[in-house]
Amino acid sequence: MSSIDEKLQPVFDQVLQRNVGETEFHQAVKEVLESLGRVVAKHPQYLDDALIERICEPERQIIFRIPWVDDRGQVQINRGFRVQFNSALGPYKGGIRFHPSVNIGIIKFLGFEQIFKNALTGLPIGGGKGGSDFDPKGRSDAEIMRFCQSLMTELHRHIGEYTDVPAGDIGVGAREIGYMFGQYKRLTNRYEAGVLTGKGLTYGGSRARTEATGYGNAYFIQAMLATKSTDFEDKRVVVSGSGNVALYSIQKVKEFGAKVVACSDSSGYIVDDNGIDWALLREIKEVKRLRVSEYARAKGNGVHFVSTGSVWDVPCDIAMPSATQNELSGKDAATLIKNGVIAVGEGANMPCTPEAIRAFQEAGVMFAPGKAANAGGVATSALEMQQNASRDSWTFAQTEARLASIMQGIHDTCAETADEYGAPGNYVLGANIAGFVKVAEAMRSFGV
Ligand code: GLU
Repeated sequence: MSSIDEKLQPVFDQVLQRNVGETEFHQAVKEVLESLGRVVAKHPQYLDDALIERICEPERQIIFRIPWVDDRGQVQINRGFRVQFNSALGPYKGGIRFHPSVNIGIIKFLGFEQIFKNALTGLPIGGGKGGSDFDPKGRSDAEIMRFCQSLMTELHRHIGEYTDVPAGDIGVGAREIGYMFGQYKRLTNRYEAGVLTGKGLTYGGSRARTEATGYGNAYFIQAMLATKSTDFEDKRVVVSGSGNVALYSIQKVKEFGAKVVACSDSSGYIVDDNGIDWALLREIKEVKRLRVSEYARAKGNGVHFVSTGSVWDVPCDIAMPSATQNELSGKDAATLIKNGVIAVGEGANMPCTPEAIRAFQEAGVMFAPGKAANAGGVATSALEMQQNASRDSWTFAQTEARLASIMQGIHDTCAETADEYGAPGNYVLGANIAGFVKVAEAMRSFGV
């Protein structure tokens, strides 16, 4: 992995100075700037007009108070965020995350990644992200509803079909989107379906949106494996997490002939050498909202629940980190490499640390960065916006076919860009450069 080119170092120094203590944001910017040395060497015009500096500074950042009343009648206060990072290619687009770890640095890193990810989809969407430090764990349905309504009471003034279109992320699924959409509609007296994506199918949602991020990662890895004349057939796969991304990754790679032997949640991981029973896992995690240990309890014989160590200790051919940022360390990467991993596709945003990415690349492991591999979710959100704008609703098969061809397109763009810049097989470089060039060109057309 390269370091930051000396011409770009001042840009990074300024990011460090302006965003003190925001380590995840620094990490995300550093990775992109490391890729851009080759671009400015070939096309020095990208150094003009502070273009790169401008891309690293959000267009707008909103921080707000979210007061709500819990089931005991107590007033609770959380903090809400929306970072409207870049609107060169279209309205800001990106999810909303509910997790106690959320702070401005995390939302900025996610928003920054989203700019390039969205550009790679080839669809007209800018980059943004939002969230709150609200912890949904253990909260009743009524509490979730009141919280979502209060959040939208402020957020509604900042979003819109042509301005900023939020969706889900960790802790935010169809239920939360429904409560937020209901409140937006009440406050604005507009049935503006395209203001949020990830909606329910009865009121403007898109078929295959729920499945899209996980399916998309499976399609991306399939395309990457095909470049080495191989596929998912009979491969052992480990997926971290067991939320929306993990669940639908597991479903799709099983369909592709792989055996998924382990997955996890924040309490530990399960190992099922016979291959995870998808329907049971879905029932436990998505319907009943229980822990993965319930899966081991339900299955009994031969299935282990492990609450120590890491899911990456389980030997596999293909790893799909689909939980959260920095969940796969350099040490985990070394274990996976020792155990013979051949490919890694990031289902989550930035789940591999820089040390882990370096280790995979040095060991010749095929590595798909999240901003390319997990772009299927936001791409299908853009397809949801298309359906809303045309007051239409596509079939599952139609939507999945669009998703599959978008993922193949992203794969090819990354691979071709990596070739063009003298780093064949380096999808990190390919994704960063291709995403950057598209956004930078649009920004240049607009003037300062
Ligand atoms: N949160 C997802 C992501 O990280 C989806 C965003 C969206 O659909 O707008 O890309």
